Amino acid sequence: MKPYPLARPYIGKPEIQAVKQVLQSGHLSLGPMLKKFEQAFAKKLGTPYAVAVSSGTAGLHLALLASGLKKGDEVITTPFSFVASANSILYVGAKPVFVDIDPITYNLNPAEIETKITKRTKAILPVHIFGQAVEMDSIIKMAKAYKLKIIEDACESIGATYKGKKVGTFGEAAVFAFYPNKQITTGEGGMIITSSKKIARLCASLRNQGRADDLQWLDHQYLGYNYRLDEMSASLGFWQLKKLDWLIKQRQKLAALYTKSFASYADLISVPQIAQGNTHSWFVYVVKIQEPKINRDKVVKLLYADGIETKPYLPSIHLFEFYRQKFGYRKGDFPHAEKASSYCLALPFYIGLAEEDIGSIVKKLIKTLKRAYDQDFRR
Ligand SMILES: *Cc1c(COP(=O)(O)O)cnc(C)c1O
Repeated sequence: MKPYPLARPYIGKPEIQAVKQVLQSGHLSLGPMLKKFEQAFAKKLGTPYAVAVSSGTAGLHLALLASGLKKGDEVITTPFSFVASANSILYVGAKPVFVDIDPITYNLNPAEIETKITKRTKAILPVHIFGQAVEMDSIIKMAKAYKLKIIEDACESIGATYKGKKVGTFGEAAVFAFYPNKQITTGEGGMIITSSKKIARLCASLRNQGRADDLQWLDHQYLGYNYRLDEMSASLGFWQLKKLDWLIKQRQKLAALYTKSFASYADLISVPQIAQGNTHSWFVYVVKIQEPKINRDKVVKLLYADGIETKPYLPSIHLFEFYRQKFGYRKGDFPHAEKASSYCLALPFYIGLAEEDIGSIVKKLIKTLKRAYDQDFRR
């Protein structure tokens, strides 16, 4: 069987040409492409300000800092995410307070938030997981009632909408990421968007060692970082962004093909569900194994041996060794997240997969599930 990686970026000739031009220009950092990428991004998202940074994680760090989060604060978030969303809260000295997820969308369940609010709660960090928006009306209501800030982790969900509104436009600030497995890539990179001039200026300063707003050489107003995005990456991002709508349409088609192929296997596999009012931008295509006697990790190994790369998606953050030790989390603390972590599986998903490819991946997966079931069952 031909090998199927989990993800693969879609890079065309314009991107290659553009990066080459940057290299030939000799202007490799803090040049014109950074501004061009930021301006195009802000326009695309319909937001006044965009600040490009060296990664999504760096973006989350700065967005939290610039929103005033600090030591002693608590930030409500989800344990079912990429580790960076919770880590970034720790970077500013605040404490991530987890709430369990909705078992259907895998997004944090707003109904669980209120019981976790204390005097120290200062913000909610919703993560739009896998390309689908969190139920934002309830989050906004809660934030208003308790005077909490909202910082969106939109790293997996560029282009997704909630009730017709773009993900990333609901709070103080939002962050996108451009690692090569995301919908668009800059190699490494991220973007902070905000409608606050103050937050935008602060982020722009903090990413560049805390230099003064006018970027006067060697004047440092704050303790800053080097979170700059270089010109090659910015140029790559600028050209990828032009394709965003098309890229998402292709991903939607691939997702629909997968979902159709699984239609007659509903007893074994549950497919992604799109909540009413949402459009999905498909960072990954994640299925859930329905039968608890199937050993998911064995499925991953068997498929890998056949050239099909799949991945447990995602492990719950609260059960990582570092979080267990620091906060005393244990198995059973967030049952819906843990169940998703045990039975969810991301499948090969990238532009270039043909209908036949998806057909053969699904066929192989179904066969493998039966194998993993039998072997486990006999033991
Ligand atoms: C990709 C991602 C990030 C940022 O990742 P970087 O590798 O730092 O760009 C943050 N949060 C989530 C949920 C992500 O999926």
